[in-house]
Order: sequence, then C-alpha cells, then structure tokens
Amino acid sequence: MGTIDLSTIKGIIFDLDGVIYDVGPSIRKAVQDGVEKYKMKVDLDNALQEVAHLLEDVQNYPLPQIILNSYTLLKDASFFKGLSYFKKMRIVVFLFNQFNEYRKSAKLFEGIDGLLSSLSKKVKLAVLTNNKSTYAEEILDKYNISKYFDVIIGFNDVNENKPSPEGILKILNKWNVKNNNAVFIGDMTSDILAGKAANVKVVSVATGLAKKNALVELNPDVLIDEPKELKTVFNI
Ligand SMILES: [Mg+2]
Repeated sequence: MGTIDLSTIKGIIFDLDGVIYDVGPSIRKAVQDGVEKYKMKVDLDNALQEVAHLLEDVQNYPLPQIILNSYTLLKDASFFKGLSYFKKMRIVVFLFNQFNEYRKSAKLFEGIDGLLSSLSKKVKLAVLTNNKSTYAEEILDKYNISKYFDVIIGFNDVNENKPSPEGILKILNKWNVKNNNAVFIGDMTSDILAGKAANVKVVSVATGLAKKNALVELNPDVLIDEPKELKTVFNI
C-alpha cells in the first residue's frame, strides 16, 4: 500500500488498459479459448501475464512488422514452448482476434469516473497507452470521461513505447511539470520501469494480468490491488 500527498503533485498520468479500462476478463477469456482450442497444457497465471504482454506488443504494430518481429515476440513465451513457429503464429492470431471481440464489451473499473472527477479538480490528468491514441479516445469518449484529460499519448505519438520513459517525459514537458511533482499509474512491469526511468512517483495496480510478485520486485512507490483503492492512496 502506501499513500501520496496530493499537495505535492501537479500532474497524474494514467495507463488505460488495466487501470481505467478493465480488459483483464477479455484477456482471460481469450486465453481460455486458446488453451481449449489448441489443447495446451499451461499454467494459466503464467499464460495470462505472457499473453497480456504479447497482446500489448502486437497491437502496436502494423501486420508486416508483427511478422518481421514475430520470432523475437514469441521466442520467450513459455506459453508456446515446444510448438512450431507456424503454430505459435496461428495461436497468437487466434488470441488476438478473440481478445478484440471480447474487449468490445469490457467496462471501466469501479469508481473510476468519480476518482477522475475529484482528481481533475486538483491536478492535471493524462493518459499514456501503448495502444493507438485513437483507441484511447474512443473508449474515453464512450464512457464520457475524456473531459478529465488534457493530454492523450499513444504509441503513434512516441518513438519508443513503455518501458521507455519517452511518453511520460513528453507529457511532463507539455505540462511544464517537474518529475517529482508527477505520478504515473500502471498495471504492468513495463509501466513501473517507465515510471522509474522518468523519475516520477509510481503507483502499480495489480489488476491481475501481471503477477503480483513481479510488480513487488520492481519496488513501486505504491502497490494496490484495485483501482478503487486510488481514493485512499490520494486521500480524496
Ligand atoms: Mg496496462
């Protein structure tokens, strides 16, 4: 746990998937479908974390680049151990399609609207996602919460995705806010790494796709289990 003194903070940057938008169940269902369809024997917790990372990576690239990078993308995933390259590709495409279908019915995390409304009266808010910025805008508009954010940065706005600090630094620069007056909130290990590299305060939300001990190891300033605990973290 831990808290952050909001009077020292001028800007808060939110990751989208896994912090504002609850895509966890969509990834879980996609993985379950994959395990069933391809009769895979895997540890579901490991598989979820790996597939979550993989989907974050894959959705950033146009198809030719996915194919070019596929060897590197797939080589470390124990989920695919022992399978041929073509089978791995077939499974990834299947998972990606299933995920995109399920994601259409994903919801905001409980209490997010109220939290953003309170915070936006005190500090500047931004979204930083490894997804396309238009994807973020679409979701924020759908739930009528784009009004709380004055900056939205996606992979198309930076040269390097998280774990690079580039996106965070770009937002701070735009705001003219110093790193010790800023917070980044994310759900994956790459978010903690990006926040640390940018030297901002880091809140990690263990919403279930990253393994909690992997997050603990990276020593974020604050670690919580659910986004609704952010109210307590900022004492609002
Ligand atoms: Mg995320």
